[in-house]
Amino acid sequence: MSELKNVGFDSKCVHAGIKDYEFGPVVTPIYQTSTFKFKSVDHGAALFKGEEDGYIYTRMKNPTVEAMEQAIAGLENGYKGLGCGSGMAAIHTVFQTLLNSGDHVICSKAVYGPTATLLTTVFSRFGVKTTFVNTSDLEQIKNAINENTKLIYVETPGNPTLEITDIEEVAKIAHKHNLVFAVDNTFMSPALQRPLDLGADIVVHSLTKFLNGHADVVAGIIVVKNEEMYSKMRKVLNQNGGVIDPFNAFLVHRGLKTLSLRMERHSRNAEKIAKFLEEHPAVEWVVFPGLESHPQYEIAKKQHKDCGGMISFELKGGIEAGKKVMNSVKLCQLAVSLGGVESLIQHPASMTHASMGKEQREAAGITDGLVRLSVGIENVDDLIADLKQALEN
Ligand SMILES: *Cc1c(COP(=O)(O)O)cnc(C)c1O
Repeated sequence: MSELKNVGFDSKCVHAGIKDYEFGPVVTPIYQTSTFKFKSVDHGAALFKGEEDGYIYTRMKNPTVEAMEQAIAGLENGYKGLGCGSGMAAIHTVFQTLLNSGDHVICSKAVYGPTATLLTTVFSRFGVKTTFVNTSDLEQIKNAINENTKLIYVETPGNPTLEITDIEEVAKIAHKHNLVFAVDNTFMSPALQRPLDLGADIVVHSLTKFLNGHADVVAGIIVVKNEEMYSKMRKVLNQNGGVIDPFNAFLVHRGLKTLSLRMERHSRNAEKIAKFLEEHPAVEWVVFPGLESHPQYEIAKKQHKDCGGMISFELKGGIEAGKKVMNSVKLCQLAVSLGGVESLIQHPASMTHASMGKEQREAAGITDGLVRLSVGIENVDDLIADLKQALEN
């Protein structure tokens, strides 16, 4: 990576993590092998003792996976990355490494659903307590700290309300109290937001989303700042076994090369669509980091390089209006997930959160007419025409 230190982010996207391989390939080869031959007994012994660097077994280390990990660590300005089988495997590994029985976590209220469930139904069984607060309000974080607090875990912009947390300010609070501060950077990607530069200790990603960008992989990554944290995490990941496989690592690494370009187009398209929606009579409100009406617009301007591709908006007609729009879109695909080249649209109240009661849903910020749109890289006029006909159907 050292030779890439003085190049721009776009150049890093294209070149980061590529190393020298036999035959001089331009692209990292897929080392689809579970295990690696030792040259001799002494060689094997030296590898196991850590006296020599090399590959032993793919759960521990694999060249294709390592190249992708190095690339993303480089983009996040981190020390090293740990490729995981999914975003949830990455988040689980962070919690497993850092938390002991009796510890307390402060977590964003606007967080990916399974992250909250992991804390409240799995880690709770091992004596870990969690307080969920609105992390865009720093006072709520400060007030939640107690003598057992170990970790502040923030997702920003958060799910599904796109609430924005000031990473720099939370880092100051965390470090004043000797707490570890981890950020889920899935919604922005390192092209638009680099939490480690702003003081966070750990970054996690669902690679499934913008980093891979093509809706054909489920994967995750953890990026850390130093060797101490890296070796702790690596031991836990090696034991819980939640690693990424070489082929998916290859696909993610390929996706990364266009990250900069894609994020630029996602942002431009989303900006135009957010403005279109804000003016449309069928829409009650729009939340988008690029709109001045966003409650944390000033933080977004300071912390984001661009506005990203995620829009939340509220339809005037509640559940029925949501269903109608979902059944009427043609170019936008009706599906969960986000961050791919194709636009995806979802109506939580009638789909993902339909089994929840209305009260519980609203407590989680999911109103009846809420629609989440992940804006793709299609022609923006086509997307606006599609949304217009669906809203006016
Ligand atoms: C999707 C997502 C995750 C979980 O990632 P998987 O790859 O689906 O396990 C975590 N955080 C955020 C913000 C996500 O959008």
